[in-house]
Amino acid sequence: MYDVIILGSGPAGLTAAIYTTRASLKTLVIAGEKWGGQLMLTTEVDNFPGFPEGIQGPELMNNMRKQAERFGTEFVEENFKQADFGKSPFTITAGDKSYEGKAVIIATGADTKWLDVPGEKEKIGKGVSSCAPCDAFFFRNKKVIVAGGGDSAMEEACVLSRFATEVTIVHRRGEFRASQIMQDKAKANPKIKFLLNSQITEILGEDHVTGVKMKDNKTNEIKEVSIDGVFVAIGHIPNSSVFKNIETDEKGFIKVREHTKTNVDGVFVAGDVHDRQYMQAITAAGFGCAAALETERWLEMQK
Ligand code: NAP
Repeated sequence: MYDVIILGSGPAGLTAAIYTTRASLKTLVIAGEKWGGQLMLTTEVDNFPGFPEGIQGPELMNNMRKQAERFGTEFVEENFKQADFGKSPFTITAGDKSYEGKAVIIATGADTKWLDVPGEKEKIGKGVSSCAPCDAFFFRNKKVIVAGGGDSAMEEACVLSRFATEVTIVHRRGEFRASQIMQDKAKANPKIKFLLNSQITEILGEDHVTGVKMKDNKTNEIKEVSIDGVFVAIGHIPNSSVFKNIETDEKGFIKVREHTKTNVDGVFVAGDVHDRQYMQAITAAGFGCAAALETERWLEMQK
């Protein structure tokens, strides 16, 4: 029997584990076959406080895991299968084994929604990115495209404009989904251009991005455009669909009732699986800390 079972091993899950084990709570992390979350797929992380020279994403996650293990966190590198959230203790199945926990913290994150076009996947980190605050710095004096038409696309473009010489927002329709205030901010920025009714059909380049194939959705004409980087900002997919009786919003982000609590007593949530606003490693870690402290209080109250 564990005091806490944490589902997910990104910054939210591992920070929660550091806090719960340090508070002497017997903790199991269901880490997934590919543990570590999205930072395992990034290169340099420049904006996580405490690393003045930056740190590689996988190294940061390894450090967090070692820190959690130092306090006694146990890890299972199996994919989460199902949870019985009827009442505490909860039964969690991962791989072909079941585990019992008095409390659960869901920190399963969200996956970037990618364009899913040829040339995209293999160039992630080589000119293709989904995080301007993380990677804009590498595009100083370069030309980039931001794909998307929501608030994220506007925000990413504004961040990028501080470094790049030219930022073009490419949106598949004739009208943006973004709020007026965010559109106005982007439109007032002289470095940001807009290409509507258009979509990227292929990302070009051998080992890094050199251009894209761009389709005009009105004429169906496709032409090649030279570009140094492509930022994909077309939304995220929260990893919540496996939790049957946990309340989510219409996009699948888990609803927080109060201070990291879900609708099920004893089940808490942390990180990108509930946060559709910030989605940064440091905010996920912060939410992980908060969920751990709330879990500790809740377990104390059950005694
Ligand atoms: P979003 O609002 O869902 O917008 C996604 C955009 O990507 C839409 O314009 C959509 O086009 C486009 N898109 C989706 N799939 C596509 C595909 N396969 N190919 C090309 N384009 C595609 O997502 P978001 O911009 O990430 O925002 C998510 C939430 O966070 C929103 O509630 C937003 O307000 C919030 N947010 C707020 C701020 C802020 O206030 N500072 C900043 C960022 C995000 P269609 O319009 O044609 O569907």
